[in-house]
Amino acid sequence: MRILLAEDDELLGAGLKAGLQQQGFQVDWVRDGVAAQRELLTGAYQASVLDLGLPRQDGMQCLAAVRRQKITTPVLILTARDGVPDRIAGLDAGADDYLVKPVDLMELAARLRALVRRAHGVAEPMLEAGALKMDPASRQVWLDDRLVELSLREYEILQIFMLHAGRVLTRTQIEQHLYQWGTEVSSNTVEVHIYNLRKKLRPDVIETLRGVGYMLPQQIRAEATNTKKGAA
Ligand code: CA
Repeated sequence: MRILLAEDDELLGAGLKAGLQQQGFQVDWVRDGVAAQRELLTGAYQASVLDLGLPRQDGMQCLAAVRRQKITTPVLILTARDGVPDRIAGLDAGADDYLVKPVDLMELAARLRALVRRAHGVAEPMLEAGALKMDPASRQVWLDDRLVELSLREYEILQIFMLHAGRVLTRTQIEQHLYQWGTEVSSNTVEVHIYNLRKKLRPDVIETLRGVGYMLPQQIRAEATNTKKGAA
């Protein structure tokens, strides 16, 4: 999951970025409100962590501007302990959640996962596409109740597919979801991960629509079994 972090405090920002990366998030970090607005308007993020006290433009102005442009990316604001009016104003301006500093990293990660789930209309903590199941909290994946070992990158790609099950994704869209700025991506990286995902799961889990992109069906069928033999 790709997250935009807007925080001007160097120490706090570095800690949040490292902590969220440890929790499996891709984190892009900006340090002022103008950059935060510019990046949020790309719509490339699954969620954002927004400090309110930012240089050039405060977090509230940034949030209001982004919402005016109909960008619905979930935003969690960071507020000071005595900032009750800030919190209310932030929620009114279109924030989806808030946390009071100092931030507990595990709580922040859990809240971000919940925001992303809700944004995709998934109320249940587990993601499911028929026989394929994923638990974003533990980052575990099951196919036909068989636990499948995936690398972090394979997991992330599969999660993007599960959040968009039944919809065609182009390679560029997948890359946008995945990579931080400046990460060199060789032209076939996504293809290689998809190849490995098919090998570890099953070929039909990710369909290729030639010349268009890839799609994970909404209902992955259960593995064919031989229990029906002899049925009349
Ligand atoms: Ca600040």
